[in-house]
Amino acid sequence: MPEWLNALPKAELHLHLEGSLEPELLFALAERNQITLPWADVETLRAAYAFNNLQEFLDLYYAGANVLRTEQDFYDLTWAYLQRCKAQNVIHVEPFFDPQTHTDRGIPFEVVLRGIQQALHDGETQLGISHGLILSFLRHLPEEEAFKTLEQAMPFRDAFIGVGLDSSEKGFPPRLFERVFAKARSEGLHAVAHAGEEGPPEYIWEALDLLKIKRIDHGVRAIEDERLMQRIIDEQIPLTVCPLSNIKLCVFEHMGQHNILEMLERGVKVTVNSDDPAYFGGYVGENFAALHEHLGMTEAQAKRLAQNSLDARLA
Ligand SMILES: [Zn+2]
Repeated sequence: MPEWLNALPKAELHLHLEGSLEPELLFALAERNQITLPWADVETLRAAYAFNNLQEFLDLYYAGANVLRTEQDFYDLTWAYLQRCKAQNVIHVEPFFDPQTHTDRGIPFEVVLRGIQQALHDGETQLGISHGLILSFLRHLPEEEAFKTLEQAMPFRDAFIGVGLDSSEKGFPPRLFERVFAKARSEGLHAVAHAGEEGPPEYIWEALDLLKIKRIDHGVRAIEDERLMQRIIDEQIPLTVCPLSNIKLCVFEHMGQHNILEMLERGVKVTVNSDDPAYFGGYVGENFAALHEHLGMTEAQAKRLAQNSLDARLA
């Protein structure tokens, strides 16, 4: 990565902590927790990181998350991510975590949260990285389950800045979660949601109008709907775009076809993020580098993208 790219101060606003679990750490945690893995070694696991769509990735992602058991595991996961941030001059993070991925396996909510929180705290004091944590609901599970998760979270209300919506998009439109998002907002939490990654522009409309989100996660399919484009430009609603993820999950065939710079030039408040870096081949820095290499992103464009990420912070 060019040094000028690395040196730009950036914020990362779309990152799933469970998606930053590198194969080496995954194997180390499996050994520590005496878990037998379905993969022979790190190389075999890495070779499995070839996906045709979002669901194929999610199946592997949930299998990998199974090695996370103790508070220390969640600390180590988060700490490893923050060190990557430090190396790439990411000065602020607003990561997601998926409590349901863990509570459904019998890991208590507070075990997950305490490990993450301690690492974020140490990241602030030792690495100078500020943060705001976002609790994300799994949309392939019923809204009832999301309500239960929100209830479990409320004793720790101050640990979060907002709620999000992730996992399988197609067939699970935002409108299914209108009530639980209303409840979360009534508790003073910000709302964000994945929309318009694989799903149609209608899902972005729903996320804006029904969930009343402050930021759209992904949102690259907004470009198919001119009226929607005009709205997100007029209202300067940030999009947390994840270029390498979009290529890995076949949202675009090749980075040369990605629309992020076209959106930027049209006045959309787009930002660059890594989504699930351990699975998609890179952190924020590698995502910026890919835009430079394949789309000819200029230094001026990189500066605007980095500034957008700082402007779009919720914390
Ligand atoms: Zn995501």
